[in-house]
Amino acid sequence: MAKIVVLGAGISGHTSVTYLKKYLGKDHDVVVISPNSNFQWVPSNIWVGVGLMKPDQVKFKLAPVYKKLGIIYKQALALSIHPQGDENNDNGFVSIKYVSENNKDKSEIVTYDYLVNATGPKLNFEATKGLGPDKFTNSVCTYDHAEHAWKNLQKAFKKMENGEKQTFLIGTGHALATCQGAAFEYVLNIAFEISKRKLTDMADIWWISNEYEVGDFGMGGAYIKSNGYITPTKIFTESILKEYGIRWIKRAGVYKVEKNKVFYENLKGELLTKDFDYAMLIPGFAGSGMKAFDKKGKDISSRLFAANTMMKVDADYTPKPYEEWKASDWPLIYQNPEYDNIYAAGIAFAPPHVMSKPMESPNGTKIFPTPPRTGMPSGVIGKIVAQNIAHQIKTGTKEHPHEASMAKMGAACIVSAGYGLFKGQAAVMTVKPIVQDWEKYPKWGRNIKDTVGVVGTAGHWMKLFMHYMFLYKAKAKPFWWLIPE
Ligand SMILES: Cc1cc2nc3c(=O)[nH]c(=O)nc-3n(C[C@H](O)[C@H](O)[C@H](O)COP(=O)(O)OP(=O)(O)OC[C@H]3O[C@@H](n4cnc5c(N)ncnc54)[C@H](O)[C@@H]3O)c2cc1C
Repeated sequence: MAKIVVLGAGISGHTSVTYLKKYLGKDHDVVVISPNSNFQWVPSNIWVGVGLMKPDQVKFKLAPVYKKLGIIYKQALALSIHPQGDENNDNGFVSIKYVSENNKDKSEIVTYDYLVNATGPKLNFEATKGLGPDKFTNSVCTYDHAEHAWKNLQKAFKKMENGEKQTFLIGTGHALATCQGAAFEYVLNIAFEISKRKLTDMADIWWISNEYEVGDFGMGGAYIKSNGYITPTKIFTESILKEYGIRWIKRAGVYKVEKNKVFYENLKGELLTKDFDYAMLIPGFAGSGMKAFDKKGKDISSRLFAANTMMKVDADYTPKPYEEWKASDWPLIYQNPEYDNIYAAGIAFAPPHVMSKPMESPNGTKIFPTPPRTGMPSGVIGKIVAQNIAHQIKTGTKEHPHEASMAKMGAACIVSAGYGLFKGQAAVMTVKPIVQDWEKYPKWGRNIKDTVGVVGTAGHWMKLFMHYMFLYKAKAKPFWWLIPE
């Protein structure tokens, strides 16, 4: 009997653990360790942040689903990985601390034959002074944050209704932040809600971003086919912002926030400020901060994790100039190079390099987006990791028949504003591959046939449909596995 331990029950970890159990059945133990008792469909937090959904509509309790599937669930935080075991134990293990009410602060070691690290990002608010929902800005990264953001947004709406103009500032809250797509969706939703309330004249809406050009989205921008034309995402995105009456500040590395004021440096090295009444700024992301130790207790974290504390996998991490980056630098199977029974799925894996061209101000401040790892690749990676582990256990081999390079797979980004069947529209962008491959596609960096942008109601329906479909799948309802990631 093999024992597989998955750390994290987010989009990637939950996908991994449910497929592992489906493939391996009762003959093997599948364990999941995650501190939040709920699963949350993170993309719909945007709608919670504008009051169109309640937190209960985007989350559900994990324990009953895991019980139904026969998965062992520990509501705990993984603190450290011990791939060689320790002096008393030859098996690799993870040290965990429970956070559930009945076991709070109890520690335990959990041995494994295979380990999947799917701990996602640490929302690194501390990296920007004054950033975050307990300080001066809002966030929609979790359902709690989004609920809090909606409370504050209502106050801003009330002030506008009472004749007080309000400035909204939405975007990235760190010079190296990613997840521009989520912030972009939020700013469009805010503009939509303001217009719905006929308060447009009272609002000054701004997009602030570390992108060199708006529409970079951390993937170095893209050329997309739109209405028969090949259009850079810069033009596509700028025209959407203009249509919604949103102005923008680009090339901005936010480094500090005070009450109603953001401080940022731009790529010219200028130190500037922007006043706001309501701000939602995405923090920088880091790895979950787990440590790793060898058999004697020596810290070997730098062997398992990259500098950003995300886990090293089968990528080419050799430092090289931007011009030499290759699609083949990106990982295929997400296996740790030091320990072949450890994998990292979703945001937890360290990318080999960024996708946008690195930029630096004359003061030496790096200002550019880090790579986005959206839900679809996170789910796909979680699934192929599960497939490969199950294959190895069943065949007794070390083979990896399944691969999922982000430089081969496509992704769809649906930025939807509004809610309901008739009251919304969405900008849909599909890119293939996610990471540009200039060798294979020398003209556009991607396959232009599959790299498309459209604005309309259909995309909005798709987003709404995805919300229900993915929650159905995550709840492991009948035939859940037929729904793609
Ligand atoms: C507001 C917002 C909107 C988004 N919208 C979209 C969208 O429309 N489309 C899209 O494709 N993507 C979207 N994304 C991105 C998408 O949510 C992520 O790609 C996805 O959540 C990543 O999955 P993950 O499993 O790697 O991480 P997560 O979903 O963050 O899951 C990580 C899990 O690990 C757990 N964990 C953390 N630390 C530990 C630890 N030490 N031990 C054990 N467990 C731990 C966490 O509690 C969590 O359960 C959005 C993101 C945000 C923030």
